Amino acid sequence: MDEARLIACHGCDLLQWRAPLSERGTARCRRCDAVLYRSLPATYDRALALTLAAAVLFAVANCCSIVELWVKGAFVDTTLLGTVASLWRDGMWPLASLVFVTTILTPSLNIAAVIYLLLPLHLGRSPYRPELALRVLRQVAPWGMVEVLMLAMLVALVKLEHFATVVPGFGIWAFGAVMVLLAAAAVSFNPADICTRIDSGPDDNVLSLVPGKNEATPTAARTGLFRCHDCGLVSKPFAHFQGGICPRCNAVLHLRKPHSLARTWAFLSAAMVLYIPAVLLPVMVTSTVFGTKSDTILSGVASLWTSGSWVLAIVVFIASVVVPMIKILLLTYLAWSTQLRSSVVPRIRTRMYRALELAGRWSMLDIYVITMLVALVQFGSLATIDAGPGAIAFGAVVVLTMLAALSFDPRLIWDAVEWEGE
Ligand SMILES: [Zn+2]
Ligand SMILES: [Zn+2]
Repeated sequence: MDEARLIACHGCDLLQWRAPLSERGTARCRRCDAVLYRSLPATYDRALALTLAAAVLFAVANCCSIVELWVKGAFVDTTLLGTVASLWRDGMWPLASLVFVTTILTPSLNIAAVIYLLLPLHLGRSPYRPELALRVLRQVAPWGMVEVLMLAMLVALVKLEHFATVVPGFGIWAFGAVMVLLAAAAVSFNPADICTRIDSGPDDNVLSLVPGKNEATPTAARTGLFRCHDCGLVSKPFAHFQGGICPRCNAVLHLRKPHSLARTWAFLSAAMVLYIPAVLLPVMVTSTVFGTKSDTILSGVASLWTSGSWVLAIVVFIASVVVPMIKILLLTYLAWSTQLRSSVVPRIRTRMYRALELAGRWSMLDIYVITMLVALVQFGSLATIDAGPGAIAFGAVVVLTMLAALSFDPRLIWDAVEWEGE
């Protein structure tokens, strides 16, 4: 493995040399502070063991019930797949699909792709076409939400105590273990490093193009180099304009995410429009012998607060109301300032963007809580909970803000700074 390799920062496109790191060391970009790479562990056996354990427990977690309820001698329980199925039966297929994709499909793909990469390495072979697994990992990474699901299960347990005697099922503990195992595996394995280990890639052709140290900002784009979105390799494509192919993993190369600002604006404006029905319309309709009660997101928070669970009330309020609002406002500011080619505080704006990427997923909390309540509270004339139209609007807001953040390319912030400097 050749340590002295050229890399381009994914956050600001600055070209830098890969230097050897001490054990557990982290290399950060000197311009925008993004994490460029971490020191490579000697083997990935630890990550493989943790992921295999997570795979077994994830299967168990999906087979066992997550909550058990006793109401007047009757017993109700459900698995995660059961909650998705009952939403689907109620005609709430957009929500059902969203919950299925983010809690069952993406974690499964994530686990499968990591095992696909690491098992051959453990057996002393190279994985067949690792770039395919890396592409899957990169696509599913923002959408896997096991930790959000865990928190949602806790909120649902508290809410269910109003209706029945609640016993957490074995599934909930298994999901908790999967969450811990996947987090531990992620610490000891960074998918982007695997390419460096398997194949250092052809990069002799780029060395002669790197500008001298006295050049102000040697970015990849300015030097005519492309950074691969999938494997991170910096290369000079044979084509003379955008649209080359990465020589290592065959991904299509772009200098910047294609139509980044236009797509960000499109997703963002759709999210803004839907935020209004998401907050105003009922997300949950509870029918009991005493009548029917509709809950919006805010009244759900209020009822958690009045029932004494004020910590959960604050958590749900932040995740469901504050995070989406701040995300929409900050993304609007980022897209607007980038559109105007502003060169103000680029470092802070890049950090803002990274924080947005991380925080957005927690807004899914309320969707999962509603899913579980709808599946479990079906006691005929005694009490029934159904999802309201607000829940679909709310789910759409979460997905649209995530798509807007994924479409935005933080390197555009730095392009404006360079443009100013000329
Ligand atoms: Zn950077
Ligand atoms: Zn590549």
